[in-house]
Amino acid sequence: MNAFRPSRHGSRRPRVSFEFFPPKNEEMEVNLWDSVRRLEPLGPAFVSVTYGAGGSTRERTHNTVKRMIDETGLKPAAHLTCVSASCAEVDEVIRSYWAAGVRHIVALRGDPAGGLGTPYEPHPQGYHQTSDLVEGIRRIGEFEVTVSAYPEKHPEAASLDADIDALKKKVDAGATRAITQFFFDNDVYFRYLDKVRASGIDIPILPGIVPVQNFKQTAGFARRTGASVPQWLADRFEGLEDDPATRRLVAAAVCAEQVLDLIDRGVSDLHFYTMNKADLVYAICHLVGLKPEKTQAQQVAAE
Ligand code: FAD
Repeated sequence: MNAFRPSRHGSRRPRVSFEFFPPKNEEMEVNLWDSVRRLEPLGPAFVSVTYGAGGSTRERTHNTVKRMIDETGLKPAAHLTCVSASCAEVDEVIRSYWAAGVRHIVALRGDPAGGLGTPYEPHPQGYHQTSDLVEGIRRIGEFEVTVSAYPEKHPEAASLDADIDALKKKVDAGATRAITQFFFDNDVYFRYLDKVRASGIDIPILPGIVPVQNFKQTAGFARRTGASVPQWLADRFEGLEDDPATRRLVAAAVCAEQVLDLIDRGVSDLHFYTMNKADLVYAICHLVGLKPEKTQAQQVAAE
C-alpha cells in the first residue's frame, strides 16, 4: 500500500529559518555573505546570528545583524547569552539591538565560563537563569523571544522533566518559540514534543537540523552537547574520511531523509544550522519545494 507523502505533493511546503555565526576574518566574512545571498531568495521566516558566550562576538554579531537589516530583506534574530555579564551589560546589548532595528532575540544562558562540564556560576550582578534573561528582554522592548529546547535533555539538567520545567519557565517569562538542539533520530523529537505538549507548553518547537558537513566534528559537538549519534549514522560516514565528494553526497542524502520524514509527520517549520555553508541547505530546501523568490534588491532593480 502506498502511504500519502505530503513531502511529495507540495501540500506541506515548510517554513524555514537559517542560523549563521558571525565571521572572524575577511575570508569568513565573504563566505558568510555568499551563503546569506544564496539562501535569502528562499524567503526564510527569519535568520539568526549566534553570540559568543561572555560577549566574545558582541561587536561581530551586532555588525552582522545590522548589515542584514540594512542590506537585505531578511528578518534577523540576534542571539544573546547572559553568562559572565552583569544585567547592565546585557541590557546595553539589548538596547543596541533595538536601536539597530532588531526585533527578535534568541535568548540563551551560554555555557559555563570554565567550559562544558564545569559548574555554572551566574555573574553576581547578572541574570541568573535564562528565564530571567527572557523577562529582562521583554521589559526593555517589544521583542519576539525565542529560546532553546533539548529533546535529549541539556547535559546539566537533572532529568528531561526538569529540563521541560525550565522550558516552561522561559515560556512563562515571555518566550514564544523554541529551537531544539540538533538530533538525528526523529522519534526522539516526536517523543519530546509529546512530553512538552503534555506539560502544557504550546509554543512552536522548531526542530534544529544540522547537515553533517563533517562527521567527526559533528560527532564531537554532539558528545559535548548531549545529542546522541546513532550507530547507523556513523556507519553511513565510515570509510569516507578521505573522500569529501562522496561525503557531501551522503550528507545530503542523510539530511534529506530526516527532513522529508519530519514533513511527512506533520512538521511545518524547520531551523537549519547552516555553519555558514549554503549549498547543502539550499539543495534540501529545493527538495521540499522552496524555490527562489526575488530578493528586495532584485525587485528594486526590476522596477
Ligand atoms: P537553559 O534553558 O538555560 O538551560 C538548559 C537546562 O539546563 C535546563 O534544564 C536548566 O534547568 C538546566 N540548567 C541550567 N543551569 C543549570 C545549573 N546551574 N544547574 C543545573 N541545571 C542547570 N550558546 C552560545 O554561547 N551562543 C549562542 O548563540 C548559542 N545559540 C544556541 C542556539 C540554540 C538553538 C541552542 C539549542 C543552543 C545554543 N547555545 C548557544 C548553547 C547554549 O548557550 C548552551 O547549551 C548553554 O549551556 C545552556 O543555555 P540555554 O539557554 O540553552 O539553556
